[in-house]
This record gives sequence, structure tokens and C-alpha cells, in this order.
Amino acid sequence: MTTTIAVNRALFDEVMVPNYAPASVIPVRGEGSRVWDQQDREYIDFAGGIAVSSLGHCHPALVNALKQQAEKLWHLSNVLTNEPALRLAKKLVDTTFADKVYFANSGAEANEAAFKLARRWALDKFGEQKQQIISFGKSFHGRTFFTVTVGGQASYSDGFGPKPGAVVHAEFNNLDSVKALISDKTCAIVVEPIQGEGGIIPADASFLQGLRDLCDEYHALLVFDEVQTGVGRTGKLFAYMNSGVIPDILTSAKSLGGGFPIGAMLTSSAIASHLKVGTHGSTYGGNPLACAVAEAVLDTINTPEVLAQVLHNEQIFRQCLAELNEQYPVFSEVRGQGMLLGAVLNETYRGRAREFFLAAAEQGVMVLIAGPDVIRFAPSLVITEQDIREGMQRFAAAIKQVVTG
Ligand SMILES: *Cc1c(COP(=O)(O)O)cnc(C)c1O
Repeated sequence: MTTTIAVNRALFDEVMVPNYAPASVIPVRGEGSRVWDQQDREYIDFAGGIAVSSLGHCHPALVNALKQQAEKLWHLSNVLTNEPALRLAKKLVDTTFADKVYFANSGAEANEAAFKLARRWALDKFGEQKQQIISFGKSFHGRTFFTVTVGGQASYSDGFGPKPGAVVHAEFNNLDSVKALISDKTCAIVVEPIQGEGGIIPADASFLQGLRDLCDEYHALLVFDEVQTGVGRTGKLFAYMNSGVIPDILTSAKSLGGGFPIGAMLTSSAIASHLKVGTHGSTYGGNPLACAVAEAVLDTINTPEVLAQVLHNEQIFRQCLAELNEQYPVFSEVRGQGMLLGAVLNETYRGRAREFFLAAAEQGVMVLIAGPDVIRFAPSLVITEQDIREGMQRFAAAIKQVVTG
């Protein structure tokens, strides 16, 4: 039997590597868009575990999928395939541009696979001079060394020794800045359809089309990082379906698992053929438990009703935020799409997102920030109107608290 240890926030500082600074409360259970902490205090969840809990907490369909699979088979390794992985891959292929799927355990790993595939594809087809990856300032692609290097924040990639080479950064939504960098040496352009961590900044449709055209002209691959935007979050199954611009490689994670770790890389047969047997892999990637849960997530989200609800919920969020802003003018605009929204603080409150975040938690609503100037909302796609309105009342109290000091 395991012995019971008293756990509290102080224990974190004692036993955890100090790379995180978690809040003072410890949540212990959740249901739908409500979460309770050790003291049984209730929070309304507008954060969704950073755009992960796409169907809220303990959604019955996901609990059921996990329990059923837990009693059947957990793990085998990739020496063998398994039924949930095959079903999930088939459904992803049937509903997207892609012909092939590779499973990983996280967004960073899905991107790592995408970048390695782009490099290998270019090497096989054009030779070793074609290696350059163009990415964007403020972009975020994960925390492995390759993905932080491709990401557009030097503070995440500096200080760990020599970085993977041939990675350059252009300016997001500025096609001329890409034209200035692209050449026959470019193997891929990597972009988020909506920059998430960078501040909820949507890519212009013309910008994405421009990237597509440049990739075609220079024989480079267009990679969409949809780790944050994918699986219903913008009201379409994937955000690329809003713009009509089709990538060569797409990565997904976060919402795909609904809280269970999984990542996926999607691509065409022709490109996929360059990851031959033995070129890449993962021990846990595509394991039966993760794939069974993700299959239930996909089945539940990819319906006209749920996707329509995402856009309906967006309207309620926008309307509530507009009303709040009339009472306490703190925002200059609300950006984003579906259940991925960023309320941008105006001149007066610039740089103070963290204060709003902390006040919100005090008032019983969990929000996120995206940089120092943006309050981010990434709740469950199926959050109820009642939970939105009650959460917004609590958020109003939080705003009042910050505004009146
Ligand atoms: C969160 C995120 C990642 C990294 O995903 P992990 O699962 O944390 O590795 C990559 N790209 C984008 C756009 C993300 O939002």
C-alpha cells in the first residue's frame, strides 16, 4: 500500500524543479467547466488547462473511453500497432487534407516530427543545401531544443548551448519579410494560424495564402502548427479550414487529447514516404489509451452541433466582454476566434495582465494570459451559457478589483 503524504503548495517548492511558479491553490477535482480546490472552493474554468480540456473536466464520453480501454490494453510498443490508433488515424485522414498520421505524446513532439520530416524530405529530393526553416517572431512551437529554436522567442532558446542551425525568423503577417528570407535553400515555412502564446494574433487570410504561394514557388513545405487552434477550437475542426489554405504538414495536440497526452502530425502520402522505417519514432506515441480518448474527443467535437456551439459561445463571450468594457474600460480589442480569444489591455492597463489573472482566481474564475498585455480565454468548447455568464460576473468583480486598486 502507498503511504499517504500531506500535500500542499509548500511541498512544491521542496520537491519540484523550480521551472514553474504554480498558483497557491491546488485543484483536486473538476466537472464540466467547474473545478474545486483542496478547500472545496469552486472555480469556473475559462482556461481549459491552456486550451487542452476541450470537453471540460471528466466528460462522460472520455471517462468511458478511458475506462473501457484501461480494462483492455494499455501498451504494446510500436513493434505492434493497435486498434484505437488505427481508428483515430483513419478518422483524422477522413476528415482532413491528410493521407497519413504520425502519433506523438505532445505538441512539441508532433512539431519535432514535422520539422525532421521537412528536413528529410528536402534532403532526399533536393540535397543538403535545402535546410532553411522560416518561422515567425513571437511564435511558439514547444520546448524541445529544435522546437524552441524554431519558436520566435529567444528567451526560451538561449542559454542551452549551440542551437540547431538554418532557422530564421520573419515577421508574422508581413509577407515582405518572408520574401526577404526565402530562397531555394528554404525547406519549410512554419506558422500558427492564430499565434497563441504570442498573444492570440490571427494570421490574415491573405498572409497564409501568400505563404502557400511562396512555398509552391520555392518548393518548400508549408507547416501549420495547429497544436492550439486545432480540433474544433476555432469553430472548424482545424483552423486551416477557415482560410481554405491547405498546409503540407499539420500538427495537433492540446485539444486532441482533451486532457490526456497525445500529439499528431498529419501529412500527404508523398511527403510521409520520406519517414522510412527507422527514421523516427516514440515509445509511447500512438499508445492505445491516448488514442482511445482522442477518438472519443474527435467523435464528440466533430459534429455540426458542437462546432456551431463553439461559434455561438464566441458571440456570448464577445458580448459579455463588450459589456464589461463599457463598465470598466480596460480592453482595446478582443482578438481570436471561437473558444480561443484574447482581450487586449488598453494603454492604461498595458503590461498588467498578470494582475487581472490573479484577481480572477481570487474571484473564482480561471483565465489565462498570453504575454503581459493579453487576457486569454480557452475554455471547454462545450461550456454552457450559464457557466459563461456566471464566470463573467466573477471576472467583472476581478476587473473591478484591479481598476479600483
Ligand atoms: C502548446 C503549444 C505547443 C507545445 O505543445 P506541448 O504539448 O506543450 O509540447 C506547440 N505549439 C503551439 C502552437 C502550442 O500552443
